[in-house]
Amino acid sequence: MSIFDEMAREGHEQLIFMQDAESGLRSVIGIHNSTLGPVLGGCRMHDYDTETEVIDDVLRLSVGMTAKSAVTGCNHGGGKAVIWGDPETDKSEALLRAFGRFVQSMRGRFCTGTDMGTTGEDFVVASQESDWMVGLPVYAGGSGDTSVTTAYGVFCGLQAAAAHIWDSGDLHGRRVAVQGLGKVGRRLVQHLLEAGCSVIGTDIDGESVREVQAEMPVEVVEPGEIYDVDCDIFAPCAMGGIVNADTVDRLKCQIIGGAANNQLAYEGVGRMLHEKEILYVPDYIINAGGLIQVADELLGYEPERVRRKTEGLRSLLQRCFELADELDMPPFEAADRLVEERIQKIAQINRIYLV
Ligand code: NAD
Repeated sequence: MSIFDEMAREGHEQLIFMQDAESGLRSVIGIHNSTLGPVLGGCRMHDYDTETEVIDDVLRLSVGMTAKSAVTGCNHGGGKAVIWGDPETDKSEALLRAFGRFVQSMRGRFCTGTDMGTTGEDFVVASQESDWMVGLPVYAGGSGDTSVTTAYGVFCGLQAAAAHIWDSGDLHGRRVAVQGLGKVGRRLVQHLLEAGCSVIGTDIDGESVREVQAEMPVEVVEPGEIYDVDCDIFAPCAMGGIVNADTVDRLKCQIIGGAANNQLAYEGVGRMLHEKEILYVPDYIINAGGLIQVADELLGYEPERVRRKTEGLRSLLQRCFELADELDMPPFEAADRLVEERIQKIAQINRIYLV
């Protein structure tokens, strides 16, 4: 693997390798694009098998953050951090604080918070060393759990998708299949039920299923059956890559929109959905509520502003769907156009010299 070739492929600016032998920290920060401002992206902790996997993951994840910030009007660049280690056994105060010190050394060029394998509490520890931690719990001065805002954003996004294809954003009476009843999935279910939808859910974790069923009237299917459910909307809220060669012909919905990142296994499958007249709502727009929330912490967290911006995902998606129709392309490609357009336009204003 040539690291420079890998970086050049998606135009990454910077890869920063950090290690601290005493605490066992091995971490990489990937800065994809900082045109729009200080780079914002979560920190994932995972027990990767190889160094190549670490680098692949940080490069891949940081690209998505550039798109998410740019399209939602946030003044942030895209990046991501990964810590190479087992979140169950390798985490320690020293490791988290060592990570915090490295982030602090970047003087605000990179801000980070939770992702898979890390928690708000971890960043309370890291924030002893760094002013650039976001997504902290409320008791530590942060905005708290982002899944609340993410779920609300997904719900707003589904309303926008419904308005686009059914001429009404009212979801009453729609059947929605939700994959993953975790933090976001179960909150989305709540919004959908309140809006008068019927919900079919699934999760590989029996405990999550039982908790949700104890509180809400949800029909449950086995994890492998969710792709075959007759429904109006399929909402993936578990993991990426679920729209793939095996599942694309099984889906019977008219809209796909959910919280999971990178739902399309590859771009070709997105075009297949378009040909089948299934509206795929671009993941990095519909799931941007969490980013909107943590970005707001850097401005001085205002819940009302976050709510308004999250509801703004409806009009953003409407613009994306209209552009897609105008250019005769799938919305996920139109979303990429919106990203490129904003980055190019804002890069241009930097030519105006400021004293
Ligand atoms: P979570 O870990 O709380 O929930 C995910 C759930 O999916 C778990 O209950 C898990 O058991 C289940 N699951 C895993 N594989 C499954 C499978 N094959 N079939 C059915 N269920 C399966 O995570 P979350 O915070 O709810 O996030 C859900 C997704 O949304 C993730 O992909 C995450 O990266 C993405 N996302 C989350 C946020 C946020 O603010 N939490 C923001 C943007 C994107």
